[in-house]
Amino acid sequence: MSLTSEHFEAWLRLAAGRLHEQKVALTELDQAIGDGDHGINMDRGFSAIVARLDAGPAPDPTPTGVLRFAGRTLVSTVGGASGPLYGTGFLKAAAALDGVAEADASQSVAALEAAVVGIAALGKAVIGEKTMLDALTPALEAARAALAAGANGESILEGAAAAAEAGALATVPMLATKGRASYLGERSVGHQDPGATSSALLLRALADTASSLARPQTAAAT
Ligand code: ADP
Ligand code: MG
Repeated sequence: MSLTSEHFEAWLRLAAGRLHEQKVALTELDQAIGDGDHGINMDRGFSAIVARLDAGPAPDPTPTGVLRFAGRTLVSTVGGASGPLYGTGFLKAAAALDGVAEADASQSVAALEAAVVGIAALGKAVIGEKTMLDALTPALEAARAALAAGANGESILEGAAAAAEAGALATVPMLATKGRASYLGERSVGHQDPGATSSALLLRALADTASSLARPQTAAAT
């Protein structure tokens, strides 16, 4: 597997569709422990990405070009904490892939690492604080372990998505110590973090994009 600009664009479009479907669910999660806008924020940002892709001019046809375009669009269209955090993640991933036409498994994991490190630095958060990092950090760890074990790109991304989903579920019993949810103290316990949930959605969409785009090649090769 190697991820081209077309793959990243397909990922953004798939994620935008799923975020639109999950807009109400994500907003309900944020109503419980935040200000009830996470679904609206994510839908606004990813709808803007799709609208700009459709309207043109097209971003540079490289992984860096597409990811940088996504990051800039999120920073400029999404209010709230999640816009700058996700925007930074995309911009850091873009920078990690500079000069790469097709990201192989190791380059893809390096881009994920750059995104997660960038988000953690901006948010000054670590795992266990009931944020998107509770999905992203286990995803990165799973991806690194799978890469070291020699897994192919699709299974690396599948493992990352599964770890992110488990990580999002694991935020339910956590006490929030970062972001708006931290204002609730003990009352944040018992609810799933909206940002961890959207991070899992994004990584699931990436894994699904990689596996659906890999399938025709596999079929042709056998
Ligand atoms: P806001 O909190 O400004 O309303 P959103 O509702 O769009 O923004 O996003 C909330 C999500 O952002 C939270 O569920 C959490 O996952 C994430 N988040 C908030 N603060 C931080 C932080 N400091 N570090 C990492 N993630 C954070
Ligand atoms: Mg909010």
